[in-house]
Amino acid sequence: GWLEGNVALVTGGGSGLGRAVAERYVAEGASVVIVGHDDAQLKATIAAQPDDVRDSRWASYVADVRDTDALHAAVDATVARFGKLDTLVANAGIWDFQRQLTRLSGAQLSRTFDELFSVNVKGYLLAAEAAWRELVKTRGCIVMTLSNASFYTAGGGPVYTAAKHACLGLVRELAYELAPRVRVNGVAPGGMNTDLRGPAAVGLEERSISASFAKNAGSKAVIPLHDSSVEPADFTAAYVLLAAREQSGPITGEVISVDGGIGVRGFASPAGGDHLLDLVSDTVTDPA
Ligand code: NAD
Repeated sequence: GWLEGNVALVTGGGSGLGRAVAERYVAEGASVVIVGHDDAQLKATIAAQPDDVRDSRWASYVADVRDTDALHAAVDATVARFGKLDTLVANAGIWDFQRQLTRLSGAQLSRTFDELFSVNVKGYLLAAEAAWRELVKTRGCIVMTLSNASFYTAGGGPVYTAAKHACLGLVRELAYELAPRVRVNGVAPGGMNTDLRGPAAVGLEERSISASFAKNAGSKAVIPLHDSSVEPADFTAAYVLLAAREQSGPITGEVISVDGGIGVRGFASPAGGDHLLDLVSDTVTDPA
């Protein structure tokens, strides 16, 4: 694998994309510590791992990413357990369920902002602060989960979109500040069918993005690669590339978009090539 002997800490690693990245990292030879605020979820994720790696290459640590002391303790626990830290995946987050400016009162916006920026932006910043000393020692790296909302509109409301734009700023600023020892990059997924939740401050903590996927199943596609996957496991390869110094050593301050081509969508039909198969032989079969 590309990550033999590496040690990674993944925030939000107990579900969704974070869990998929942790599982992929272990498959590539790494050991992982998954960090989150839900102990039962973290334990269930580890219990589901194969026998040959479950005890030797997985650990969990309970921490709220808004809590610097808890994040420092998580880094310390990682080094105590596995001897070092090579990669921080800053990933824990919540969504605003596309609550637009005009749909919220000022008070609701205020509470949404405070909670969402605290988890999605401060959570990344504090995780980087807790980890940088260990990453300097290993010439390690940080990979941050960004979003289509780090670049484009309508992937959230103004709060989520601004927060994910802010995370792009963290990637760039920290890539500068931590060079030349530590690389800092981002991965920007598009929509994924996960259990992504909303701010408790406006009663959205039990709402899951998976319900939106269920509701919209079968409706008109909005991305160019409209038959691309929405399963988190299919978004993990970019995290492997960016964590593997042998493969991406000169890359820092960059973002790999893994979003089905939202940036080239244009104004016409979502996929400009919907007629392409008609232009070539009728014997084409899609690769598996
Ligand atoms: P998810 O809910 O499965 O994962 C988020 C994880 O973060 C959960 O395990 C949750 O328990 C944890 N978490 C939330 N608040 C926390 C806190 N305060 N302290 C510690 N842990 C906390 O959802 P996901 O879709 O896998 O989200 C992962 C990342 O992907 C997020 O940054 C999200 O913004 C981003 N993202 C998701 C989508 C999508 O469509 N699902 C698209 C683009 C980007």
